[in-house]
Amino acid sequence: MTGRGGGSDRSSPAAPAPRRAARPRRSGVAAPETPQATTGEIHQRDGHRCARCGQRSQSVQHRIHGDRTDNRASNLVALCGDGTQGCHGWCESHRRDARTLGWEVSKYRRQDTTEITVYYVNHPLSPGRPAWIRLRDDLTAELAEYA
Ligand SMILES: [Zn+2]
Repeated sequence: MTGRGGGSDRSSPAAPAPRRAARPRRSGVAAPETPQATTGEIHQRDGHRCARCGQRSQSVQHRIHGDRTDNRASNLVALCGDGTQGCHGWCESHRRDARTLGWEVSKYRRQDTTEITVYYVNHPLSPGRPAWIRLRDDLTAELAEYA
C-alpha cells in the first residue's frame, strides 16, 4: 500500500477513489418500455413446438389468464390447439394443473412471469428432454433445470 500523503489520521478511513462507473449508463436511447412480443416470435422462441406435448405449436397462451393485452414474452407460451382444443384447450379447462407447470400464472398473486419457470417437454434449450425454462421479456430463455 502506498501512503496517501501523510495518512496519519486513523479515525477516518481513506475514501475510495472516485469511480465514474457508478453512474447509470446512458446509451442515448430512451429507456425501453417492456417490449411486446408477437405470436411469431413466441413460436420461434419455443422452437415451434407445443410446450406440453411437443407437437407443432398452433397458438400462444397468455400465462396470466384474462389479460390478452399483456404480451410480454415471459407471459406467453406456445401450445398446440386453440382456446378449446389441443393443449391450449387443456390449459383452459385444467387451470390448476396448468399453474403447477407454469403455463398459467395467477393474476391475483402478482407473480413475476420472468421468475416462474415453465415446463417444456421439448424446448430448444433442452432438445428431447423435458425441462423447466425461465422466460425473459427480451425473448431469450434460460434452462432452469431438467425436469
Ligand atoms: Zn400440445
